[in-house]
Amino acid sequence: MSCRLIDDLCANEVCQHIDNVLLDCDGVLWNGNDAIPGSLETVEKLKKLGKRVYYVTNNSARLGRIMLRSVLNWGTMPKRKIVCTSYIAALYLHNEGFKDKVYVVGNPSMGRELDQFGIRHIGVGPDPLPEDCELADWLKTKLDPEVKCVLVGFDPHLSYLKMMKAASYNQKSDCLFLATNEDTHLPVNSDIVIPVNLTTDFSIWNWKCSSCSEGTITQSANVLGKPEKNMFKVLQKAHGLDPNRTMMVGDRCNTDIAMATNCGLKSFLVLSGVVKLPELQEYMASTDSMIQPYIPNYYAACLGDLGKLLPE
Ligand code: PLP
Ligand code: CA
Repeated sequence: MSCRLIDDLCANEVCQHIDNVLLDCDGVLWNGNDAIPGSLETVEKLKKLGKRVYYVTNNSARLGRIMLRSVLNWGTMPKRKIVCTSYIAALYLHNEGFKDKVYVVGNPSMGRELDQFGIRHIGVGPDPLPEDCELADWLKTKLDPEVKCVLVGFDPHLSYLKMMKAASYNQKSDCLFLATNEDTHLPVNSDIVIPVNLTTDFSIWNWKCSSCSEGTITQSANVLGKPEKNMFKVLQKAHGLDPNRTMMVGDRCNTDIAMATNCGLKSFLVLSGVVKLPELQEYMASTDSMIQPYIPNYYAACLGDLGKLLPE
């Protein structure tokens, strides 16, 4: 696939051939709590040109609307223009007709989204392992037989006890195993590293041992966020988006750009977040077929670079 640094010609293509722009949030609009210069202006310009703008974030931790409002000070924002993974997870279970209980290894936003659909859940909040308990016997008394789904997202109170509970529920063959997203870490401009879901290795949530009655086959997590198609499909259904006239803007190749490829959208990588130029160049030089979906149609240092090329 050809990948081009954004120029006048690309901006013209966007003007002529794109009606809908899907924006990833962290790394495109802001980093942490800081707005990325030029992004907001570009969004306003796109809207002025008649483009419909939507927000697609793998963040499960804060309701999308609140996030956009607090970081960009954007007053009211129609809920259906924002898709976040906590909502996608609740919608998925609702559409599956799920009637049992969910064990959430996650944050209060995930609980609130489940509440909106009337889906019962447990697990949000701190759950430390007490000192000196007899582990196996004690754990047995803590498991809820009504749980038929483990949902893993960003959990600031992640504990060893939660991991044990999740793995114990997951060993049952009738237990669904869902994950909001598989982003490995958050892009923060400092010396600290914030792992997101610890979902890089889903096997920690999914420990089927040979003594289990159901054998050793492990069920892998059904990941609902980008790069899967769910988020685009929700917007497509609600707003009738034509994939051929839709462009996804993101800062990660394995989530944002791969989702665009999976859904047949145009893709635009900005280097203001996780992926930097050397990584993109590596993908561009690769002949590996697994890497091809990671290669965007366009790239630029930041979203503002597109804005500068768009007509007033
Ligand atoms: N997950 C969590 C918990 C986050 O806080 C973030 C970004 O802040 C993300 C995922 C990635 O979000 P996005 O898809 O907007 O880059
Ligand atoms: Ca991002």
